[in-house]
Amino acid sequence: MLVVHKYGGTSVGDVERIENVTNRVAKAREEGNDVVVVVSAMSGETNKLIGFAEHFTKEPAKKEMDMLLSSGERVTAALLSISLQARGYDAVALTGRQAGIVTDDTHTYARIESIDPSAVKNAIGEGKIVIVAGFQGINKSGSVTTLGRGGSDLSAVALAAAIGADQCEIYSDVDGIYTTDPRIEPNARKLDTISYDEMLELSSLGAKVLQNRSVELAKKLNVKLYAKSSFSDDVGTLIAEESSMEAVLVSGIVLDKNQARVTLRGVADRPGIAADIFSKLAESNINVDMIIQNMGTDGSTNLGFTVPQSEHENAKKVMESFDHEFEGMDFDEHVCKVSVVGVGMKSHSGVAAAAFTAMAKNNINIQMISTSEIKVSMVIDEKYGELAIRTLHDVYELDK
Ligand code: ADP
Ligand code: ASP
Ligand code: MG
Repeated sequence: MLVVHKYGGTSVGDVERIENVTNRVAKAREEGNDVVVVVSAMSGETNKLIGFAEHFTKEPAKKEMDMLLSSGERVTAALLSISLQARGYDAVALTGRQAGIVTDDTHTYARIESIDPSAVKNAIGEGKIVIVAGFQGINKSGSVTTLGRGGSDLSAVALAAAIGADQCEIYSDVDGIYTTDPRIEPNARKLDTISYDEMLELSSLGAKVLQNRSVELAKKLNVKLYAKSSFSDDVGTLIAEESSMEAVLVSGIVLDKNQARVTLRGVADRPGIAADIFSKLAESNINVDMIIQNMGTDGSTNLGFTVPQSEHENAKKVMESFDHEFEGMDFDEHVCKVSVVGVGMKSHSGVAAAAFTAMAKNNINIQMISTSEIKVSMVIDEKYGELAIRTLHDVYELDK
């Protein structure tokens, strides 16, 4: 088989753990596989580099950030290759550029446009184990770009598709996809399989076990994806077209702590106001998540939305340019979003009501609500996030 392994930050967090990965890759090789390995930066490394840059300015140039952040993954790729070579294996470490990954120009959040797999394929043909630095590519003018946080997952899926790998195995510190984050709810249950659509929903709502763009691409290009642990031999979870969970009402609960809420009071109730505000936010590359607006009364209305915490200050600045259009604004960084996901909701009623009842019983105030066919999301005070997750997990009996 031709397999792609991807090892995340905790799996390569120090030299002993890189040694552990070396053993796993060597084993896959000994079993007769061709192996391409995508690696993340050592755990904490990307945040450390961001911290260094922010020592000088809160808004470092994104092009420079890519130059900086891409270094983390190169370190691990080189170390893993050195470690494999020391054990007598023929290995080669490649940067994103050397692996042929070409992206658009959106520095720090680039999209992969194409992959020229020839270098990777040639190295495999020569019998080498190929190690690729994740999270990075180059744009057409030759500058290094990065793919957004968690982007090594995307590198792995995209490479797996480009080289026609039989499967792509994403290794982290959990042995699969659970009904909710097992660090928050010890009774969370591991799923044998989950559909691309449900996984995409969980990832998009903030379950960071797989980056959402990687799941999207795996679905589009039909990449057979596994979530596994680098610390056990568990078979993990298969993410595939259909899941055995189809009949289940609720498949998972997600906590997203990376949320900040903005509320505008007494907003001028005129056609075009929402267009103006959200166009301006979009121009500033601020990703708006939940949006809530009431029916206007007496010529004014209230408008609320959430943004990632890192965009909180930027959103504040943008809103200040509209201050003649509303009476007051209120920012809250200490909120989180809890979501209930399940395709079964399409054909069942009462799922949302059960969630609201559960919040009420715990005296948790719901600040914002948004729903779709297959999810219910609520914004609540950050300090109740984990309690809400455990409560909801219990209400829908996900441990059974
Ligand atoms: P890596 O650094 O290897 O990329 P991540 O930290 O990005 O790993 O992802 C693994 C983490 O995802 C786990 O430690 C776990 O806390 C978290 N997680 C959140 N939701 C889930 C879920 N539904 N199933 C499994 N893990 C989850
Ligand atoms: N090192 C990057 C991050 O921390 C990319 C990754 O690990 O996937 O986001
Ligand atoms: Mg990750």
